[in-house]
Amino acid sequence: MELDDHAEDLASDLGVDKEEVKSDLQNLVEYSVPVDEAKQSLRRKYGDGSSGGGAPSSKDIAEITPEDGNVTVTGVVLTSGKRSIRYQGSDHVIVEGRLADGTGAIDYTAWEDFGLSAGDTITAGNAGVREWDGEPELNLGESTSLSFEDESLDIPAAYADEIGGDAQLADLQTGDRAVNVEVAVVECERRTIDGRDGETEILSGVFGDESGRLPFTNWDPAPEIEEGGAVRIENAYVQEFRGVPEVNVSEFSTVTALDREIEVGADSTTMDVGEAVRTGGIYDVELVGNAIAVRDGSGLIQRCPECYRVIQKGQCRTHGDVDGIDDLRVKAILDDGTGAVTVVLDDELTEDVYGGTLEDALEQAREAMDQEVVADTIRERIVGKEYRVRGHLSVDEYGANLDAETFEESADDPEARATAFLEEVRA
Ligand SMILES: [Zn+2]
Repeated sequence: MELDDHAEDLASDLGVDKEEVKSDLQNLVEYSVPVDEAKQSLRRKYGDGSSGGGAPSSKDIAEITPEDGNVTVTGVVLTSGKRSIRYQGSDHVIVEGRLADGTGAIDYTAWEDFGLSAGDTITAGNAGVREWDGEPELNLGESTSLSFEDESLDIPAAYADEIGGDAQLADLQTGDRAVNVEVAVVECERRTIDGRDGETEILSGVFGDESGRLPFTNWDPAPEIEEGGAVRIENAYVQEFRGVPEVNVSEFSTVTALDREIEVGADSTTMDVGEAVRTGGIYDVELVGNAIAVRDGSGLIQRCPECYRVIQKGQCRTHGDVDGIDDLRVKAILDDGTGAVTVVLDDELTEDVYGGTLEDALEQAREAMDQEVVADTIRERIVGKEYRVRGHLSVDEYGANLDAETFEESADDPEARATAFLEEVRA
């Protein structure tokens, strides 16, 4: 449905001017408020009594559905964390987290600061219900009457364990709010970005703990976050970036240096190629498949000295005529029968599969008076063999690319498997 149709809908439902509603709607959508949520908040703004369907009834959390307009719920606050969003053109601090009762748990967003803390038992009267990703969520706002109960509610142990929000990296999922992690800072770099309020400095890198690794962004650089250190972070949220969940550390997060060492787990998930591609991107994944081709742009290549992108015939698309820097890389297609990805090997991994250094490659190209011979050599060495590859998978309009961290010939009788595979391909 177009924005115009949504506005039409709302205007006729609420009996207000369409243009007015449309401009409000546009404003919200521009600031990434999902259209359903935007419509609901406009219904509230223009005072639609019908959406609630009468007085809200008291409900168990497990019984709440996205179709409920408003409900009254009693539950234990599992987590509660502040976050800043831009709403109707101005910054707004919201509180997000999860609420549980004896029957289930539900995410909530509080548009006012009710002073919710993890462990509190509350009753939220007339809480709005909205749908997010197919699941119901609670909206606590102006029209919600919130009270703190003296007697705490009994909840299942699995939920009780969640109180406070302590989590391991491997358990984090896009959409998680108010989580606490204790992590080693595996990689960290300071970057300047063009933010919504002009140029601003941020930190980005990789966190690790016993369970695994995830990328992070720290929007308000904390001095405690430095490469090689260990920190406890309270009130972080998880958002998807380039198809991968990312830990976001905001101005509302608390960062404390830890004086214990955190061991970073070596486990990564092994998946079928097709399955991995369907996830839309994974930070750390292991794939096993056959190298079926080495793509153009592999072997000895030249990069622009300004932007480091690969150039052709001394021409950078952005910087024109440049003196290229020689480099090595491989773009190999890995296929396991369920799908295919382009595996990108950096200079070091390329030296391994080529069996020589950049100097060797330059010399081979000079002798042959053709730099393609380097790619040909690599092709002869790897095509048809089975590899176990680990790295970061991204899936976008350019296809599925795996930035390899390791690229090893598969241990279990690769030749037999390769022969079998090639026979299958020929058949
Ligand atoms: Zn360039």
